[in-house]
Amino acid sequence: MANSISSEDHALIRDARYGEHAFLKDLDRSFFSPRTPVILNCCSDWRRRFEILRKHAEVRRIESNEDSLCHAFHWHGGPLRLDPRSPTNRIPRSHEVFTAEIVDAAVEVTTIEEVDLYFHWPCGKAFLHGMDVRQAFTSIVIVKKRLEHILPQRCRVRVFFHVDFGDLEPGGMRSYFVKTSGAKAWLHRRR
Ligand SMILES: [Zn+2]
Repeated sequence: MANSISSEDHALIRDARYGEHAFLKDLDRSFFSPRTPVILNCCSDWRRRFEILRKHAEVRRIESNEDSLCHAFHWHGGPLRLDPRSPTNRIPRSHEVFTAEIVDAAVEVTTIEEVDLYFHWPCGKAFLHGMDVRQAFTSIVIVKKRLEHILPQRCRVRVFFHVDFGDLEPGGMRSYFVKTSGAKAWLHRRR
C-alpha cells in the first residue's frame, strides 16, 4: 500500500499552510506553557510516532531524557477514530469506545486539563479506508467540536497535524498547529 502524499493532497496541504486562507501554523514553543501535562492522542504509526512525540516534548520544554508528561493514547488513525462518521471505524459506533477513553482520562483518571489531538499525513489507516487529506481535515473539525461539547469546560482541546513530506519538501517531517476555525472556513470555501 502506498504510504506517501499524493500530488493533490500535497497541493491542499501547501494551500492550508501558505494560501490566502491558511490555517496551519508552524509548531513552536509559543503554543505551550512549559511542562504542562497533557492527554495526547496520536496514531500508532511506527514510522512517525517517535517524531511526533519528540517534537511535542521539545516544544513543551521537556528534556529528551525526561518523562514526557503525556497521558498518551495511540491507536491506528489517532483522533480520526473519534469521528462518528469516520470510514476508519469498521465496527459501528466504535468511535464511542475511543471517545470514552479520552473522557475517562480527562474526567476520572487524571486532573489534566489539556487534550492534544495529533492527526497525521500520510496515514496508513486513513489510506486503508480511502480517505484524502480534505476528509481528514473535515473529520478533525468535527472531532474537536464534539469533544469540547462532551468534556468539562475546564478542559482545552487542541489539534495538531504532523506531515511526513518525504522527498516532496526539504526537511521531511513537519508539525503544525491547526486553527480549526480557519480549517472550517477553508473547507467551506472549497466545497
Ligand atoms: Zn496513521
